Amino acid sequence: MQTGDGLLARLALSRPDLTPVTLSEIANAAAEYGNGLLDITARGNIQIRGLTPASVAPLAARIEALDILAPDSPAIAINPLAGVDPAVLSDPLNVAEQLRALIEPTMILAPKMTIVIDGGGLVTLDAQTADIRLVAVENGWSLALAGDTANAVRIAIVPLDQAASAAFRLLKLFASRGPTTRARDFLDTEGVAPVSAALADIACAPPPASSANRSVEFIGHHIMSNGQPILGIVLSFGQINAATLIELAQTAARFGATTIHPAPGRALLIVGLSPDTIAPMTHAANALGLITDPTDPRIGIAACSGKPACASGHFETRAVARIIAAEFPQLTKGKKTVHISGCAKGCARPSKSDFVLAGRPDGIGIVLDGRADDIAVRVLPQSPPSALVATIIKVLETTK
Ligand code: SF4
Repeated sequence: MQTGDGLLARLALSRPDLTPVTLSEIANAAAEYGNGLLDITARGNIQIRGLTPASVAPLAARIEALDILAPDSPAIAINPLAGVDPAVLSDPLNVAEQLRALIEPTMILAPKMTIVIDGGGLVTLDAQTADIRLVAVENGWSLALAGDTANAVRIAIVPLDQAASAAFRLLKLFASRGPTTRARDFLDTEGVAPVSAALADIACAPPPASSANRSVEFIGHHIMSNGQPILGIVLSFGQINAATLIELAQTAARFGATTIHPAPGRALLIVGLSPDTIAPMTHAANALGLITDPTDPRIGIAACSGKPACASGHFETRAVARIIAAEFPQLTKGKKTVHISGCAKGCARPSKSDFVLAGRPDGIGIVLDGRADDIAVRVLPQSPPSALVATIIKVLETTK
């Protein structure tokens, strides 16, 4: 994928449990073939930035050799603690593997087709939107389409051993309507009747009457149902440089970590620590600039690469975000969301935020309760990051 700072590679992991050595290897490859920056995205994917046309092939060979990749289409999201969390109700890894085996190489799916397979447990995927959702329930998998857990269209509960087959049938149905058809388009034009027909010979039960998003708080220290501690850390603005990631992985290994799991919310979950090593590991992560406190104002701020990393960026987004977090944290108070975008494209957060700064050729626009490409209520002149934040504080205080 082309971006302002070169080509970007997103890794489709076959399973989320990376060893510290594997994570270090990924970071080494990012330093050698890219510009040394890596992202963990809002959906928990690892991205390697700053590649060149010449460095893509050697990077791909190096990552392939780690044997951690799954086919990149369709995107299948599973619980980040799958494989280690004893509270997972049904194994999402197994269903994902079965589904990948069923998908024919000739099947052409919409490029952004997404499937969530949520087996439950400590970290669920309720807030992630997807074309097809399979969520483990007591007696099977609840199948829903086009949304997150709360707003997706609930279709049925499919038996435990039919989840992959049911998802495959629906992928086939959508693909039959054209290479760009997503679940939402399908439902809007044809409704649920063809979906029910595609599942007719599976012994489905009626869907649950309602489904609410379960809140998940995994930043900081948590305990799994088997007593094993987990340390959840979040990357500042979703990005980390290779040297810091290697240091984090090596420190975690020294403190006993067995696996490190990329997770939604730009996070990494460290597994294998003991109650005695949680505190020093937390301290080490903080010293590396990583976030372990759920009240840290940086968590509410999304900031894209911006200037100078991205050629489309009109200002230094990350510098502005850091100053806002340090000097004006009240902007994120009460879980308010802030989006600092180098241009109107809004890469860091496609959805609305309470407060948005979006770069534009004539300055920096302020958008309230909107997206980076919405109409600005005010346009501030270009100025260095600290002066810009001072102006913003003044503007907000005078318009209270
Ligand atoms: S939103 Fe940010 S990262 Fe995306 S193109 Fe604009 S400046 Fe670049």
